[in-house]
Amino acid sequence: MGLLNPDYLFKKTTNITPDFLAKLGIKNLILDVDNTLATHGNPQPAPGVEEWIKLMKDSGIKLVIASNNYAKRVAPFADRLGLDYISFSVKPSPLGFSKALKKLDGSAKDTAVVGDQILTDVLGAHLMGMKALMVLAILEEGTPGFKIKRRFEKGYIEKYIREHGGAL
Ligand SMILES: [Mg+2]
Repeated sequence: MGLLNPDYLFKKTTNITPDFLAKLGIKNLILDVDNTLATHGNPQPAPGVEEWIKLMKDSGIKLVIASNNYAKRVAPFADRLGLDYISFSVKPSPLGFSKALKKLDGSAKDTAVVGDQILTDVLGAHLMGMKALMVLAILEEGTPGFKIKRRFEKGYIEKYIREHGGAL
């Protein structure tokens, strides 16, 4: 499996279940924010996200946010969900993810990354030896830079769906 191929692809973050994580031996999750827990820049979590965070916490899964976005965006969002966070995480560099693992008191083996982007979340997870649980972006961005990224990702998403019969 290449560095850019997600280990698992979910239609949305809230489709990830405690049972699924238990089967993989995953005890901790590092969560992206934009287009993973909310639409880009939106202070309001996507439908079901608050309940999902509670379900994860109640199931003993430890959570931390790692976003490449600025503290101004990430801090109030993390606060609202009652989560610790790393902003300006510079994914895919291991810098932020190393800090996240420390906060979780976790290891690469028992921690997975949840995020919507291949070149940051998936690649960053794999560079650290963690599993990448990719989610389909909640709402694709309209900016030119993002359009190029999304076009690039499409091939990987289609490959996953071809090989696995669909997103979870
Ligand atoms: Mg994102």
